[in-house]
Amino acid sequence: NQEASDETPKKADATATTTTPSTFTRFAELPLSSRTQAALRDCAYVKLTEIQRVSLPDGLAGRDVLGAAKTGSGKTLAFLLPVVERLYRLRWSSEDGIGAIVITPTRELAFQIFEVLRKIGARHELAAGLVIGGKDVEQEKERINGMNILVCTPGRLLQHMDETPNFDCSNLQMLVLDEADRILDMGFARTLDAILDFLPRSRQTLLFSATQTKSVRDLARLSLTSPEYAAVHEHA
Ligand code: ADP
Ligand code: MG
Repeated sequence: NQEASDETPKKADATATTTTPSTFTRFAELPLSSRTQAALRDCAYVKLTEIQRVSLPDGLAGRDVLGAAKTGSGKTLAFLLPVVERLYRLRWSSEDGIGAIVITPTRELAFQIFEVLRKIGARHELAAGLVIGGKDVEQEKERINGMNILVCTPGRLLQHMDETPNFDCSNLQMLVLDEADRILDMGFARTLDAILDFLPRSRQTLLFSATQTKSVRDLARLSLTSPEYAAVHEHA
């Protein structure tokens, strides 16, 4: 029975999140639901990458995270696992509406994140939507409030906030800003400000970026609350 096995204390129980992040090396040691553990095994993900090792304990414990690591370092799982686990622990269902929003700069990145979410969320019952330009917006407007996790580009998300009747984010638990430096480089700073104004302030926010520029730090100040810093530097 899936529910029962999720309640069973595992080797890494909730107390593990208070130990130092460096003690974790494998997904099996993290406090994740058995559904997520099974999906990770299906994908043959076993060992954590460096950014996952330093950011997942805080992300899973519900803290805001400012993460920095270069492209290809495994940031997607570093934010999607906390999203899926949080909504699962809250027993999120279709009536609860939009529980998490992931913002990424391009359609291609949104699509890639969506594919990873489909895999690691395969055994959960969360409805995920890809909210990007180039799709039928009218059809999207009718269905968007029934989604639980939105993977978005900034312009399209703001379009819904401006145009979609009853677009409802009042239940939002988590916001992820992926590739924040690129979002800002592409000129979306004001779009992001407008999005942040629309969202409830009481939420968990994970901000990931390849670089820590001044504009990223400004965005972090605006969007995060007492963040934990998780940075991976390139070794010589
Ligand atoms: P980033 O967002 O930092 O550029 P991605 O999340 O796209 O990186 O991951 C880059 C690649 O690494 C992907 O092909 C992904 O499947 C793989 N990957 C991520 N985490 C792990 C892991 N823990 N073990 C093995 N491969 C991983
Ligand atoms: Mg990425």
